[in-house]
Amino acid sequence: MSLSGSLYASFRSLRSPVDFTLTSLRCPFKPLNLYHGRSHCLVPRSSVMEQKNVEDQPKSAEKPTPASRSCIFIEDYGFEGISIGGHETCIIVPKLKVAFDIGRCPQRAISQDFLFISHAHLDHIGGIPMYVATRGLYNMKPPTIIVPSCVKEKVEKLFEIHRQLDGSELEHNLIGLDVGETFDMGKGLMAKAFKTYHVIPSQGYVIYSVRKKLKAEYLGLPSKEIKNLKESGVEITGTKLVPEVAFTGDTMADFIVDQANADVMNAKVLIMETTFVNDSMTVEHAREHGHTHLSEVVALSDKFNNKGILFIHFSARHRVEEIQTAMKNLPKRLQERSHAFLEGW
Ligand SMILES: [Zn+2]
Ligand SMILES: [Zn+2]
Repeated sequence: MSLSGSLYASFRSLRSPVDFTLTSLRCPFKPLNLYHGRSHCLVPRSSVMEQKNVEDQPKSAEKPTPASRSCIFIEDYGFEGISIGGHETCIIVPKLKVAFDIGRCPQRAISQDFLFISHAHLDHIGGIPMYVATRGLYNMKPPTIIVPSCVKEKVEKLFEIHRQLDGSELEHNLIGLDVGETFDMGKGLMAKAFKTYHVIPSQGYVIYSVRKKLKAEYLGLPSKEIKNLKESGVEITGTKLVPEVAFTGDTMADFIVDQANADVMNAKVLIMETTFVNDSMTVEHAREHGHTHLSEVVALSDKFNNKGILFIHFSARHRVEEIQTAMKNLPKRLQERSHAFLEGW
C-alpha cells in the first residue's frame, strides 16, 4: 500500500467519536505549530489549554492565524472549517467574522468574533467552552455567542460549571434568539434566526447586509432636488436588507418549503446539511433522524434561488467518492451552483 493509501486507511479507521486528530492526518509532514500557524493543520485541542501559565501565553502578535488553509470561495465569501455528520461541524466565514456551530473548536474559529449555534447536539456545540477559553487565553475581546433562546439558560450553566472547575472567567456575551428575531451585528450586518426541523429544538440563521436605499417617494427626482431635501434635514433614505449567507444547521428538508424562509432560499449563499447523498440511505431514514437527503434537494430544486449552495454534514457512512459522484449527478441547474464541503474527509 502506498504511503498516502495507508494514511487514508488510518484516517478511515480513526473516524470514531473519539478521534481528535482527523485533520492533522491530512498533512503529516508539516509541524503542528500553535503560534505561527504556517501550516493548515489544526492544533491538537489539548495543547492549547495546557498553557495556563501566564509566562507561557503567546504574545498577541502570535495569535493563531494560519496562512495556508483550505477554503472554498463562493460569490464574495470564503468558507472554511470542518463538517462530518455526527462528529463535528464548524463552518467559518472570515469575511463576516462568523463561525456557525462549533463541534470541537477548530483553531481558525477562534479568530471569529461571532458564533451562531443552531442546536445543542454535541457535534454542533461541544467546542463552545474551548472557543471562549482560547479567546481569553489570547486576550481577544469576549465573543458574542447567539443560541436558540430555549437553550440559553443551560448554556449559561455550562459556562458556570467550567468556571467552578478551573477558576477561569470565560468572558463572553450570550444572546438568546427566537425564530424571526434579529440581532444587529454592527458594521452593516444583521442576523435573523429562521425555523429548521430537527429532532431537538433548532434554528438556522440568515446574515443580511444592511444597505441604505433612496425611499420610493424620492425615486426619479433630479439629483439637485434630492440634495436640497437632504440638506434641509429630510430623511431621504431607508434601509434595505440583503440576505447574504444562510446556514441551516441540522434539519429535515421541510425548511425549504416553509413560506417564512423565503430569505433563506434567496440568500446569495446557502449552507445546508445534506447528511445522506445516495440510495445507501433512504429518505425515511434521513427524516427519522431529522436530516435531509440529497434526493429531496433534487426534488425541490426549483425552490433554490441562491447563487451558491454549500452542502455540509455528510454522514461518515459515505465515502468521499460517493459524495463526489452524487454531486456530479445533480441536475445541471443545481450542479453549477453546488459545492460539497469535504473538509475533514
Ligand atoms: Zn449534526
Ligand atoms: Zn443534530
